[in-house]
Amino acid sequence: MRYLVLSDIHANLEALDAVLHSADGRWDRALVLGDLVGYGADPNAVVERIVALPPAAVIRGNHDKAASGVEDTANFNPAARAAAIWTYGALAPDHRAYLQALPAGPLVVDDALEICHGSPFDEDFYIFDGSDAWRALESTRSSLCFFGHTHVAVAFLRSGNLFEAVLPENGDTPVQARNGRRLLVNPGSVGQPRDGDPRAAYAIYDSTEGVVTLRRVDYAVERAQEKIIAAGLPKALAARLAAGR
Ligand code: ZN
Repeated sequence: MRYLVLSDIHANLEALDAVLHSADGRWDRALVLGDLVGYGADPNAVVERIVALPPAAVIRGNHDKAASGVEDTANFNPAARAAAIWTYGALAPDHRAYLQALPAGPLVVDDALEICHGSPFDEDFYIFDGSDAWRALESTRSSLCFFGHTHVAVAFLRSGNLFEAVLPENGDTPVQARNGRRLLVNPGSVGQPRDGDPRAAYAIYDSTEGVVTLRRVDYAVERAQEKIIAAGLPKALAARLAAGR
């Protein structure tokens, strides 16, 4: 089985379409780790794309909760709050209802695989460093757990006494997911990368081969930026796409 793993799309249709085009023919089932909307200018089109995949598993992110009215924006910075309020108003009622109904993670996909938005022990927790990752690996029963939320592509792996973080290289970055290893993998953000690489990020997991591959793809950043400006969303949300920060 080959899984397409998408996280933090953030209503960036140009990035999502580039990823789907790049991944075409490489996957059998899709996993979506939350934050479909928020920040970007195409929440309705992105929800339609995700519904149409259709995903084998999809969970909510903090922006899906805020933009659909499930949770308030008390923990959001001003730009994120403005985007959540704009998105709430822009969403078609059936798309808002779809986001409201998304389940919280973690979600067990099969006995060896689970997905979460922030961490397996708290859907809103950010896994930034090794100690966060260690805690997450301790709290999951699955040998492979995908997470998002930080918008930074990384794989933490633990095997016996070995514990290390694998950062993506310029091209495809394969990570072995076998031989008793426990893996915690962030595919990176489709629609708002923050690891200094502005290209859209995603992952393919081939469970037969036992390999997770971190991938990047160029997309029309300028077009996504123009739409953000035209929508009246905060200009900083457009600027950061070019920087990948
Ligand atoms: Zn996000």
